[in-house]
Amino acid sequence: MCAVAAREVALEPNVRKWLDNPCRMLIDGQWVTSESGKTFDVFNPATDTVIAQAQAADKTDVNKAVKAARRAFDDGPWTKMSPAERGRIVWKIGDLIMEYQEELAQLESLDNGKPISIARAADVPLASELFQYMAGWATKLNGDQIGITVPYAPGAEWHAYTRREPVGVCGQIIPWNFPLLMAAWKLGPALACGNTVVMKLAEETPLSGLKLAEIMQEAGVPDGVVNIITGFGEEAGAPIAAHPMVDKIAFTGSTEVGRLIVDAAKGNLKKVSLELGGKSPNIVLADADLEKTIPGAANAIFFNHGQCCAAGSRLFVHESVYDQVVEGVADFARNIKLGPGLDPETQMGPLVSRTQFDRVTGFLESGKSQGARAAVGGERGDGDGYFVKPTVLVDVKDDMEVYQEEIFGPVVTASKFSDLDEELIKRANDTVFGLASGIWTQDIGKAHRLAAKIRAGTVWVNCYNIFDAALPFGGYKQSGWGREMGEQVLNNYTECKAVTVSL
Ligand code: ADP
Repeated sequence: MCAVAAREVALEPNVRKWLDNPCRMLIDGQWVTSESGKTFDVFNPATDTVIAQAQAADKTDVNKAVKAARRAFDDGPWTKMSPAERGRIVWKIGDLIMEYQEELAQLESLDNGKPISIARAADVPLASELFQYMAGWATKLNGDQIGITVPYAPGAEWHAYTRREPVGVCGQIIPWNFPLLMAAWKLGPALACGNTVVMKLAEETPLSGLKLAEIMQEAGVPDGVVNIITGFGEEAGAPIAAHPMVDKIAFTGSTEVGRLIVDAAKGNLKKVSLELGGKSPNIVLADADLEKTIPGAANAIFFNHGQCCAAGSRLFVHESVYDQVVEGVADFARNIKLGPGLDPETQMGPLVSRTQFDRVTGFLESGKSQGARAAVGGERGDGDGYFVKPTVLVDVKDDMEVYQEEIFGPVVTASKFSDLDEELIKRANDTVFGLASGIWTQDIGKAHRLAAKIRAGTVWVNCYNIFDAALPFGGYKQSGWGREMGEQVLNNYTECKAVTVSL
């Protein structure tokens, strides 16, 4: 049982259900335990205590799930359904997410540590929107009629067209930073396009994804179409990525594991899409409106405790406003209220796990030892949970680890620049990543010029962390392959077939 402090929201009775009994997995429409009987502990990161048990799937369970997804794709009613019918089911998932919004928000906050206010305002409604945006695509997966010449068949007449068809069985492996939303990003388009799925949830945060599995059943997703398993990366994730009956693998997580996914996918050359790390530049020009820029730059890094692949973790500020911006962001950080996610007043919760806590505090130590200085934060927060104070590092050199590597915590490096064209663009792009970026300026010409020069999949101008189901998201360079969301994601989940008819 999970102890809840007085100020924290009272848990919904349905939330208790996930905590009080070992959680099962959804395979072929059945709620099952792992074949091995093994389970693992799920932690509350705010208290470092065990709150639930989840099934530790391995290769045998993955095999069962893949076979179910294969059968559902090859024989099942799902692929024979009309696009409108499929679209209605995907839409209904979005409706039901909102019907169960409080249960989902509480599970998310408890399991991941994020503030309940954020889970309610962002994670849950964004997940719902995603399904409903994708539901619309189910009826719009059109091909083209193509006029062809065929020079070696003079005089012949042709009717040629393309069809967009589902890829087949999709393996999907997701991380813990937005557990429900990451599941939605992957399941929404896969289902709208008529695929079947085996998804592995992150071992740190399995709860909301299991609730989503229940919701999908209630929405009418047929047995075997979506199989949701829980377990660890090597035991349960790797067998999905390597499985010969899986046609496509979609992964979100670290760049390091992304490489392992590519290796594992080689066997049957399954299609691969990857959404990986980032070290995104957030750039403040001399003419920026600082009243908006300072909280904007702070939220760019501190939102979700910096556990965002798109986090604005390298802040570049023009020398003329550097001191003002750094002091402003540090002041903002000082006033952030740290606490357990379930306290409605909490603005920043704990990091997700002890591993993540050790990693982030390790970076703080390495930064200090290499000569960086914390203008604010730089140490762990109070209590037994995995709290780290929001941190602004100054006196940072471009070759330091804290500047080069993805920290995935509430830690921003602040650097000064003087020249936009000769200096800043080179430094902003001098990273192996290319996921996101921010620009703060009142000069619209400079904003567009800079936006074109940054080598990243997303550029936010005078805003940051703006996500929408209709906007494609993904990375240049080592930040990934392919795009999620928007119309672009349909390329990940459909094959294009050319049909040529001799008339
Ligand atoms: P993080 O470092 O942020 O925890 P990871 O990339 O390690 O991110 O994990 C993201 C997801 O990838 C999780 O669901 C994890 O279980 C899974 N995973 C980890 N290692 C592997 C692997 N070798 N093969 C497949 N999936 C993996």
